[in-house]
Order: sequence, then C-alpha cells, then structure tokens
Amino acid sequence: MKVISETKTKIRKPRHCWGCKTEYPQGTLMNRVVSVDGATINSAYWRKTCDDYLAQHRHEIDFDNGFDYGDSLNFDDYIPLEAFNGDK
Ligand SMILES: [Zn+2]
Repeated sequence: MKVISETKTKIRKPRHCWGCKTEYPQGTLMNRVVSVDGATINSAYWRKTCDDYLAQHRHEIDFDNGFDYGDSLNFDDYIPLEAFNGDK
C-alpha cells in the first residue's frame, strides 16, 4: 500500500473514520488519504485521534498488508474517542 495524497478537509457529509469506524458529522475536520494497492485506489477518511495514533505507531504497523477498516480498535493501547478530550 502506498499513500498518494493526504488532504485535510472539512467533510460535507457524515463520514466514518477508517481507523475506528466512528461516524463524524458534517463539518468535522478530517484527513482524506488516498492510497494505491496494486491496481486498486482507496480513499479513506481519518479523524485526528486515529491519525495521531498511527503517526506514533507507524514503525510498528506493517502497512504492506494494508490497514483494514476499524483496525485501530485492535491495538491494545489505542485510546478510543470516549477518552479523547482534545480538538473535536
Ligand atoms: Zn478514528
């Protein structure tokens, strides 16, 4: 998997964060990540919580195998949204 572009964007309709499956309302600032995997182009939206988590753990994650929808939740030290009091 190879990331082609990342764009910070205010979503114009509700979107699910790729990392944690949380649905965010229209107007939320999210990171739109476009990646290519073989012949397939994927577009995913990430909320800051998951984006930051990934940035910190990038070296531990094998992105060659891709990052499946909701995979953030499989990491023991991932802090889900309920405990997140930062920028919303
Ligand atoms: Zn998330």
